[in-house]
Amino acid sequence: MDELASRPGPRYVAFDLETTGLSARSDRIIEIGAVKFDREGVVDTFSTLTDPGIPLPLVVQRLCGLRDSDLAGQPSPHEGVAQLAMFCEGCLVVGHGISFDLAFCAEILPDVFAHRAAVDTSELARVFLPAASSHSLEELSRFFHLLHDNPHRALSDAEATRRLLWKLVEAGQELPAQVQQRVRDLCLGQGWMSGEFMAAQLDPAAAPPGGSLAPAVAQDPIRPEPAEAGLLDTRWVVDALGADGLLARADPRFELREEQQQMAVAVTQAFNRGQELLVEAGTGVGKSLAYLLPAREWAARRGERVVISTHTITLQEQLMAKDLPILETARPLPIRAVVLKGRGNYLSLRRMERWLRAGPAGRHPDLEELKFKVRLVVWAQQTTTGDRAELRLAGRDSEFWEMVGSNVDDCLGPACHNWRDRRCFMARARLDAREADLVVVNHALLLADADSGGTVLPEFHRLVVDEAHHLEEAATQAQSQRLTLRSLVAVIDRLPELPSGELPARLRSARQAATAGFGDLRALAAADSARGGGTAHVVIDRRQAGNPAWQRCVKSLHKTVRELEPAVAALRSAAQSETLQGALWPQPDNAGRECALAADALQGMARLLNQALAEAAAEPGPASGQVVWVELERGDRAVLRTAPVEVAQALREQLLDHCETAVLTSATLAIAGSFQYVRDRLGFDGAEELILASPFDYLHQSLCCLPRGMPGHGDPRHAGVVAQLVADVAETLGGRTLVLFTGYAALREVHSQLRSRLNSRGIVVLGQGMDGTRNQLLRNFRHNARTVLMGTSSFWEGIDLPGDVLQCVVIDKLPFPVPTDPIYQARSRGRSDAFAQLALPEAVLRLKQGFGRLVRGHGDRGAVVICDPRILDRSYGESFVQALPRATFNYDPVDEVAEVVGRFILGRVEEM
Ligand code: SF4
Repeated sequence: MDELASRPGPRYVAFDLETTGLSARSDRIIEIGAVKFDREGVVDTFSTLTDPGIPLPLVVQRLCGLRDSDLAGQPSPHEGVAQLAMFCEGCLVVGHGISFDLAFCAEILPDVFAHRAAVDTSELARVFLPAASSHSLEELSRFFHLLHDNPHRALSDAEATRRLLWKLVEAGQELPAQVQQRVRDLCLGQGWMSGEFMAAQLDPAAAPPGGSLAPAVAQDPIRPEPAEAGLLDTRWVVDALGADGLLARADPRFELREEQQQMAVAVTQAFNRGQELLVEAGTGVGKSLAYLLPAREWAARRGERVVISTHTITLQEQLMAKDLPILETARPLPIRAVVLKGRGNYLSLRRMERWLRAGPAGRHPDLEELKFKVRLVVWAQQTTTGDRAELRLAGRDSEFWEMVGSNVDDCLGPACHNWRDRRCFMARARLDAREADLVVVNHALLLADADSGGTVLPEFHRLVVDEAHHLEEAATQAQSQRLTLRSLVAVIDRLPELPSGELPARLRSARQAATAGFGDLRALAAADSARGGGTAHVVIDRRQAGNPAWQRCVKSLHKTVRELEPAVAALRSAAQSETLQGALWPQPDNAGRECALAADALQGMARLLNQALAEAAAEPGPASGQVVWVELERGDRAVLRTAPVEVAQALREQLLDHCETAVLTSATLAIAGSFQYVRDRLGFDGAEELILASPFDYLHQSLCCLPRGMPGHGDPRHAGVVAQLVADVAETLGGRTLVLFTGYAALREVHSQLRSRLNSRGIVVLGQGMDGTRNQLLRNFRHNARTVLMGTSSFWEGIDLPGDVLQCVVIDKLPFPVPTDPIYQARSRGRSDAFAQLALPEAVLRLKQGFGRLVRGHGDRGAVVICDPRILDRSYGESFVQALPRATFNYDPVDEVAEVVGRFILGRVEEM
């Protein structure tokens, strides 16, 4: 110990706490673990349990394996923290997510722990391992093969943190010299302790040379020749998906599904005949393989590019990472498949350079911004795709990404040196797509391409759209516009400090006028919000004529347009001038182009303001044209928005008419056996159609309860009755329950009534927006069946929870569109029965999606409970019932639901 005590050099203490919950104010410490160390190794350790004086929540017991009896009689948290303070004396503290631990300690000993400088390995990991799949201590320990034998116990976590710190230092020291230098320049003297610590460990002089922030120049992809011309053989397709076919031989998990074969034949015919096709393929049909098999074959034989579009990135990734590799194993073909995302997903090297050199947006250093910048410097040099998905943005990251993502209003295109040098990620991805035979895109990109007249995607005439029930919404978004003061000012701010003269004065005036104009728009929306008591959407049309708040907007928006016009003219004239060359940065050779781009962007914004002013004079007429409205974002930021009222004609003219084959598919497209609704909404009138039921035996695998005696949503008893029902079901099944809501308010109310009751029965209640992100909640649910998971809109689809983990889905309310939504209101105008023509079909398709969460495999068995009495009381209720799979239906009173569900899950259907 003497030898250890005399070792020179700085000392550190890595420490970790286990607590009863996340709030430093109301939760308590239950365990403290700390390791004192230096560069040579461990000097000392400290560890104690503490008695929190309150019961341990179930979720914590599960996490760390401690029980109330383990903690009874241990030192108090005060005693433990006092001992820790002594242990840390003279040392720099280190922790993984250390601000959490410091906050708990500061509640007890503020003099020692409040504002204490500390190194956070979680922050360093995010910076120096930017693309790691997880930055949790557990995952990082696994990644580095660090000994971490007792995760979620304080001493083990502290020791793992110590080891991780040096691994991260090594990762930093391995960075190329130029990157190390940039990291040091950014971090030193900024008051970010983790960054200062790391900067001190780096040594650019001893680092590997090089390290341009831009990736290497791309090589030309090689495009294979088509293998063999001719039409596809439907018999071959059926055999390939047969019991002894290509797929069965390549994938041991492959199951023969006749519905999949039928769909593959229909898609093959659509390719051969140049048809449009609508396919509803129920859950479990295996539609991805059913369209990918003929699509690949077509691309290979005919040398014609096929575009596959999905709504979600999850499905894009599944096609690329799972389905296409299976097909490639089963039948190798000389074709290239690539995924292409919207330009905003790719890092713009030019925008990044400009942002890195700019100071913080506000007057004071912004540590969050600084951390993101350092992370970006490291990642930009490592990534080969520049795809933001690798960074897994969280918190304010998306706000920072806005500054560096490729943006059509701030892209020099071929005039950019990154484009010319073929280093631009966005340009490379598009070039790759141009050389590919199969391009997997998302709807947003597909429709942005259609809207721009085909300037984004390479030419194609064969299209498959999966998750097609989202196509109308995506088309609406693609043709929508939004304008905020922030986006307008960002265009002005991206120009460097300009020499005095007309241009800076014009830009200043435009900024001032816009600030006043958006202030008035904010007041307009806020007044409306105060009147309505909720989210404000102020639709701009003739009805605003007598509104004094709008009259003020009219004046200030006219003034904004008047000030923008000369600013645009001054920018255009500066674009021709030689004098700005030296002042503009980072590409002085493109000063003219920079000014012209800014002029284009401001002119587009002035056009949008003019459009809003013109709409204010228009009568709210039949459903056509555009709808313009103002709303508040994050409670206080005015946003001016426009959206097309109808998209069917544009979809037809801009997209479908250019395709020889267009297949639209989803698990939910038809209503009561008819595609009429989707045909009308999408302009897909002449298509062939096919409805394929799920191969699952819903009658025996699923129970649908429509309980009698359920109070309506206007009844104050409703939330209490739902909470009681969920509690009874969850106790019967031991958790395994998903509850779907249409809004957060209802979710929070039921959550608050359920949590303590179910916790006392050993069942965890997890609520979206309260207990973690969507992915964290799903992971917890998968790993622990004794859980009730509660979610809103994003949980109604795209969730796959096969097996016993999910046995009951409770649906709080029928998912009708929000009646105050401006787009819905505009679409409703002029219709004889907007409810039947729009709201009802939308809600039916959404309910089908929610129902589809239940049965995901042949062995699954479960129940759906619909807690909206309108499904029984109203005449339209039958439309919902008819649209659902042919389950076993039950109409027993609400207080008997849990028993009925329990009997069904246990398999005693005959007793019911
Ligand atoms: S070409 Fe456009 S997206 Fe690419 S680096 Fe240049 S400005 Fe950015």
